Amino acid sequence: MSRIAYVNGQYLPHQHASVHVEDRGYQFADGVYEVCEVLGGRLIDEKRHLKRLSRSLTELRISHPMSDKALGVVLREVVVRNKVRDGLVYLQVTRGVAPRNHFFPPDHTAPGIVVTARNASVAKSSAMAEKGVAVISMPDNRWDRVDIKSVSLLPNVLAKQMAREQGAFEAWFVDDEGYVTEGSSTNAWIVTKDGTLITRPADNGILKGITRAIVLELVEREGMKFEERSFTIEEAQQAREAFITAATTLVMPVVVVDDVTVANGAPGHIATTLRSLFHTQAEIADS
Ligand code: PMP
Repeated sequence: MSRIAYVNGQYLPHQHASVHVEDRGYQFADGVYEVCEVLGGRLIDEKRHLKRLSRSLTELRISHPMSDKALGVVLREVVVRNKVRDGLVYLQVTRGVAPRNHFFPPDHTAPGIVVTARNASVAKSSAMAEKGVAVISMPDNRWDRVDIKSVSLLPNVLAKQMAREQGAFEAWFVDDEGYVTEGSSTNAWIVTKDGTLITRPADNGILKGITRAIVLELVEREGMKFEERSFTIEEAQQAREAFITAATTLVMPVVVVDDVTVANGAPGHIATTLRSLFHTQAEIADS
């Protein structure tokens, strides 16, 4: 099936979809993005993703390419044109095209916008969740505004690759005080021996995950014990459960942390329950 990408106002065949060499996203990583889950052809938590996109744009003083309503139309169109049932839609906005110069380009420079979508196997993700995944840890070497969902992801890319090379699925970043911040593309959670869910407060040290927010609502709805605080790798290794959250992985149990097996090495009850309940709390948009 031929894939289609939306690029600056046009729906183009994927293989011909390109941006200018002086797009600032390409030259300076001067842009932001969102990844939204698609389930049964419907966008999951579209409103929150667009709200976070708007915040990222505002924080970086990049102008909004179009209204949320218009963005919603484009997102749906790309999903439909790519025949995506279950998968994801990717949206990127950059500061646009201008002669390479660190200064912001002139005010009239149009932001660049790209939207792509693809199917992803639910069965594969479920199979992974049934086994659980391994994580490794590494020092957090990112800048101090990782709350902005910027396309500047070099430390995340290196961390994820290192995880793969060590047989793990994710890398958890650890701050100077020895506390886990988050994964290279996921938020990090543990469940203590007394059944309390723990995740780091969403300050500037982590991306405020949409999946994290939905899980927090779910935790409250289900009356589970919960504490927003930092935790160490050692605490995670001794925890009853550990898991990660993101729009692409949903709630994914973690069963090994830096080569130490968590509990009995099987996905935990709380993580599994939260995974199965996730879409009862998420906002499922009209198609
Ligand atoms: N942290 C980082 C660094 C991420 O890249 C992501 C995925 N975008 C997340 C957390 C999870 O965010 P969300 O639940 O909104 O996908």
